[in-house]
Amino acid sequence: MRLKGIGVSPGVVAGRAVILIQRAQVLRYQIAAERVGPELERLEESRRRSRAQLSDIRARVSERRPELSSLFDAQLLMLDDPMLVPRAADIVREQRVNAEWAVQQVFHEFSAVFEEMADPYLRERTGDVADLVGRLRMNLRRGVSTPRDMLRELDESSVLIADELTPSFAAQVDWTKVRGFATDAGSRTYHTAILARSLDVPAVVGLHDASQRIQAGQLIVIDGSASEIIVDPTAADLARAAHQAEDHRPAETGEAERRRPAQTADGQRIRLDANIEFPDDLAAAKYAGAEGIGLYRSEFLLSGASEVADEDRQYELYRRIVEGMAPRTVTIRTFDVDEEQLAGRMTGPTFAAGWEPDAERGSRQGLRGLRLSLTRPDLFRVQLRAILRAADHGSLRIMFPFVSSVEQLRDARAMVIAAAADLTRRGHAPPPVPVGVMVEIPAAAYTADLLAREVDFFTIGTNDLIQYCLAVDRADERVSRLYEPLHPAILRMILMVRRAASRRKIPVSLCGEMASDPALLTLLVGLGLTEFSMTPGAIPVAKQVLAELRCDELRALARRVLRLATVDEIERELLAAIGKLTMIRGVTP
Ligand code: PEP
Ligand code: MG
Repeated sequence: MRLKGIGVSPGVVAGRAVILIQRAQVLRYQIAAERVGPELERLEESRRRSRAQLSDIRARVSERRPELSSLFDAQLLMLDDPMLVPRAADIVREQRVNAEWAVQQVFHEFSAVFEEMADPYLRERTGDVADLVGRLRMNLRRGVSTPRDMLRELDESSVLIADELTPSFAAQVDWTKVRGFATDAGSRTYHTAILARSLDVPAVVGLHDASQRIQAGQLIVIDGSASEIIVDPTAADLARAAHQAEDHRPAETGEAERRRPAQTADGQRIRLDANIEFPDDLAAAKYAGAEGIGLYRSEFLLSGASEVADEDRQYELYRRIVEGMAPRTVTIRTFDVDEEQLAGRMTGPTFAAGWEPDAERGSRQGLRGLRLSLTRPDLFRVQLRAILRAADHGSLRIMFPFVSSVEQLRDARAMVIAAAADLTRRGHAPPPVPVGVMVEIPAAAYTADLLAREVDFFTIGTNDLIQYCLAVDRADERVSRLYEPLHPAILRMILMVRRAASRRKIPVSLCGEMASDPALLTLLVGLGLTEFSMTPGAIPVAKQVLAELRCDELRALARRVLRLATVDEIERELLAAIGKLTMIRGVTP
């Protein structure tokens, strides 16, 4: 069977299909017969963990609000429903697919049944199922942090068939294992198309429903030159693919090449740091050639733990990261969780005491990040002491998340001073440590000039800045398409923060997902940013793309873009400019 699409990167490759449904963030891949057993055990382990977490939340909620505990009873019951985990186990066994995919399939089956129901109460139960399935998937993901990790276990000869493939996702894929890709979506894929060409990976887009029609493990030829893919190819098709594939392997970059710092074609140095969640991510950050850790999301040390690490354990962990990265700098962000996440994660005796999660009001816009830390000085001071102790072992910075006012910053700085005083009393005065804030709430962006007077650095967190600036709940699919990094308001805000930092001569970096998208990255450089932090896998591609472009041309591009009124106009300008800029140098066809 041949499916016609739009060839966006030339070349022919063959491989076994791995299906990625990026919108649901699930990967579907075929597992070998001997992996069925371990896969079923993984599923069962996820059920065990989910049960323990739910029982725990239920127990704590019922002490305060018995009327709410039935919500968790329902989820606990569902966990034992034969239509859920056992059904997912059947799918793993029968279709020989990974457990995440099986769980997602079961969710679809459940939703279809619930949607048919006349009773609105029952219809609303889809939300509970979604919540539970989300928990099962979260527990299946334990220890797996990035899509690149998800793709780690693939065979060398895979091709990726996806509903869509955004550049930030594509930038994280290990293209030494994935030979080529094809996507259903054809719109908005130009960023990915540019990326595919710069990686020399054959690609066909605009295939409509290929990700539905193709089975995981099916043999596929992707012919980017002929704008088609061949499902179950003949021997002749395969021979042609084999012949051409040799010419289309991405070049292995050597150690020296990876360590080379990023710069634009006209010599503007760009600092590329890595975002990490776990100490184990350090290896990936160093391999990718990160100049430092621009964002360590410390709250991940809470995830899955039965009890929050005490000061010594936190110190050991921070120390490991700082020493592992030395002499490069590590920016440790203090815990960024909300009430619900804190309640779900903190179950140990130390932290359960005195903790009263408000299950009804807990939200991502409520007590979260620094606000929550300031209401829990006991937790906060422990964390700050642990970080300050780790500063003895290398270069680190402290960063506060979710700051919306100068008062909060002052309170937080006072806590740093108090934590340092605790250590001094113990006979170990810590070294001075730079303190900065994440600018990720519009109020912080608008008062960046005021905040800049009182901090040592800024980090712009566009993931949150975009959703709060545009009032878009990303979880609500009816408005999620309005989540738009290229909205003129976002670009103006970024520029405003960059200028406020320049005036006070403090460093400013940007660590949101936006930086992982090579096309958006170029525009951010045009807006005057020269420091970024991104998922490690995105760093080599960012370097490659930046090396092809001139900073002066990107600045001119940004000036033009800032005069445009709509996202569409901005996208068109960006595409035209990047296409033209790279073509001038003969980099892309
Ligand atoms: C951000 O908000 O842009 C950010 C990097 O932080 P997080 O994604 O952890 O909220
Ligand atoms: Mg954030």
